[in-house]
Amino acid sequence: MAVNFSYWELKTWFTNIDFCIVGSGIVGLHAALQLRKRFPNSKILVLEKGTLPQGASTKNAGFACFGSLSEIIDDLQHHSEQQVIDLIKKRWAGLQLLRTNLGDQSIDFRPYGGYELFLQNDDETLANCISKLPAINELLQPVFEQDVFSFQKSAACFNKIKENTIFNHFEAQIDTGSMMQALLKLAVSNNILLLNHQTVTDFYEFENRVEVALGEHSFSVGKLLFATNGFAGKLTNDEVKPARAQVLITDPIPNLIIKGTYHLDKGFYYFRNIDNRILLGGARNLDFDGEMTTEFGHTENIQNNLERMLKEVILPRQDFKIAHRWSGIMGMGAQKNPIVKQLSEHVYCGVRLGGMGVAIGSIIGKELADLV
Ligand SMILES: Cc1cc2nc3c(=O)[nH]c(=O)nc-3n(C[C@H](O)[C@H](O)[C@H](O)COP(=O)(O)OP(=O)(O)OC[C@H]3O[C@@H](n4cnc5c(N)ncnc54)[C@H](O)[C@@H]3O)c2cc1C
Repeated sequence: MAVNFSYWELKTWFTNIDFCIVGSGIVGLHAALQLRKRFPNSKILVLEKGTLPQGASTKNAGFACFGSLSEIIDDLQHHSEQQVIDLIKKRWAGLQLLRTNLGDQSIDFRPYGGYELFLQNDDETLANCISKLPAINELLQPVFEQDVFSFQKSAACFNKIKENTIFNHFEAQIDTGSMMQALLKLAVSNNILLLNHQTVTDFYEFENRVEVALGEHSFSVGKLLFATNGFAGKLTNDEVKPARAQVLITDPIPNLIIKGTYHLDKGFYYFRNIDNRILLGGARNLDFDGEMTTEFGHTENIQNNLERMLKEVILPRQDFKIAHRWSGIMGMGAQKNPIVKQLSEHVYCGVRLGGMGVAIGSIIGKELADLV
């Protein structure tokens, strides 16, 4: 049944909207902030279907990263050298923008560095990384002006891991919840209207406006911007595919020595320390098809695998308990580049952030707003 809004509700939240943004994740909120900068007197409304941003921005692992060595090597097989450099440059610039906009304290930015670990039986990936490391450092010189990757010995606490690991001193970690809370506060303080539990079900474009439907209720806006990432399949003719990512976190572990962000088994697994716990995600490669879904949830197969990795490889000599499990929905596609484009006269989108939205979300939000 349609909500019976009051005169005041209609006048304040649903009338004279210059810009309506769908999705209150990293991209949607950055787009709103950039619109506020460009149009100080405009009325900006963000609509979000979840209680909180309900896609990836409050679910992720908080890696402030721009690609492990094996990932960059793999990307070079499917993208041109220039495309790979441009994407890394954008991720790096996005991280700086996020830090500038919100402040390192607000996002609990910790520059502990990042590591790539290799499973004992994976000679091929390690050999490939060893042979290509100098060339990749060379390739990234114009962006970082110094070597990014170096070899280190793996920490003794791990098991079934090769002695050689690759260290990236530019990588860091953030507190995802604090980051999103800071972003939401900044949006509110910039006079951006935010409404939760509002699912945009359709839209109809007219000469000078767009009619936005929230079920049976609809209202007019000047411009409509979609920042719906993994949920943008229909909008983009399936150029964006949903990709669910499952995560777990342990109870606090006494004397935990693991500190930093870790990529394991070509990035199929990723883990980090947080509040004396280990947060571990991944194993999507066990069931790519099954995980191509916009439904939240976990599966026995993937969760058992994550636990096995914890027991056998990451925390082999330590008792631990799993405290909590969750999942998030990413937006993937054949190309790693996000889709930022004008869809029609008054409708735009900034979607397909892949597994790197913490890094590029701020810039993609800005680019989306600058299309208007
Ligand atoms: C488990 C996990 C771990 C990750 N780890 C990392 C990491 O360590 N580092 C990193 O850089 N990236 C990571 N990512 C990726 C990163 O979180 C995303 O790329 C980023 O959050 C995408 O931001 P977004 O704003 O585009 O999308 P989202 O945060 O998904 O926001 C889109 C929003 O649109 C809303 N929405 C969708 N449809 C509608 C509708 N019809 N009406 C109203 N609202 C709608 C959704 O509810 C959602 O809140 C991870 C992702 C996951 C799931």
